[in-house]
Amino acid sequence: MNSIALLQRLVQIPSPNPPGDTRAIADFVAERMRAIGCEARQLAPAAKPEALNTIAEIGAGEPRIMLHAHIDTVPIAATEAEKWRVDPYAGELRDGALYGKGSIDDKAPLASMMLAMMDAAQQNSLAGTLILVAAAEEEVGGQLGTKWLADLGHLPACDFIIVGEQTGNKAATAHKGVMRATVRAAGRSVHATNPDRGVNAIVAMSKVISALDAYHRELAGRIHPVVGSPTCNIGVIDGGSTANAVPDSCAITLDRRMIPREEPEAVKAELRAIIESVDLAPATVDIGEFVYSRWFDSALESDYSRIFLSCISEVISDDPGPVGYLPGSDAKHLMDVARGDMVVFGPGSYEVAHAADEHVTLADYQATTDILLKFLRRTLYPPAG
Ligand SMILES: [Zn+2]
Repeated sequence: MNSIALLQRLVQIPSPNPPGDTRAIADFVAERMRAIGCEARQLAPAAKPEALNTIAEIGAGEPRIMLHAHIDTVPIAATEAEKWRVDPYAGELRDGALYGKGSIDDKAPLASMMLAMMDAAQQNSLAGTLILVAAAEEEVGGQLGTKWLADLGHLPACDFIIVGEQTGNKAATAHKGVMRATVRAAGRSVHATNPDRGVNAIVAMSKVISALDAYHRELAGRIHPVVGSPTCNIGVIDGGSTANAVPDSCAITLDRRMIPREEPEAVKAELRAIIESVDLAPATVDIGEFVYSRWFDSALESDYSRIFLSCISEVISDDPGPVGYLPGSDAKHLMDVARGDMVVFGPGSYEVAHAADEHVTLADYQATTDILLKFLRRTLYPPAG
């Protein structure tokens, strides 16, 4: 099966999440890897047995290099379905690109990694271990996918980790974390003919909103070299029921992006302090319902990193990075598995993912494969002769 047929086949096995049933695609990866002589384990959490992961391994001992790609995709939204110009699960080729749901996110990186495993399998021996993790559940946060695998000790400590995502074939060394929170203001409702007898929760919330907006502008002063500044966005507001009553409740939901090294507990404390600093009496306000996902960052200073950057430069003839990666990835769940550097890397742009007519250019896909093969040749393959 050539490289294009392999990627077509992966696109032809739908794996939208939700529902997140990855059994068919995980089985396909496992079968292909076993056919070339790899050991392949298949694991799924009891809480979601259809979220099947495949971990394939070839070689033995140290060093250990991990290739990681997720096998679930986002679902096709109702508003998106009619915008597709091709069958999203056919893997159609058009104008030098391969189209399909999941084609770039994340099946092209997965296919390049499978090709790298196949190339490694053809060597007489490897100077270490190459591991492919085909992970479920990334599109819904990875709690029952990569995080579950890492927490249960199913992933060995690795000296270099490549997480496949869309970075324009450059080495990305950081992404932001996300914190969501809800702020609720409470007042007292009266008839709108005499609003001064009530306590308007929307007016109270407007002061909180101004304070959070000022906080967002202050955050611009904190700068991470590749992902930029933290942000605070107020994305949802909900309050009142009719124009002729003073509203007794108002809620906002905010999205606070955390740059690497910002600790969630410290960020929560900052948000609480801002809310408390606003004089709202007699209205009351509180913040809660915090949920967050971690940021990721890595150094890029090991020999593996240096070799990886030079492989990129040689193939794409451009600056190899480091760059930031704006969306999140499973790299955040692998920080304890990485005993060396870790990069997010793969073809194309995340802006093409999660949308109608998702595609990967064959040139970008080939470059991803070429970079991985070059890297293995210089790290895990024994010297020729
Ligand atoms: Zn992805």
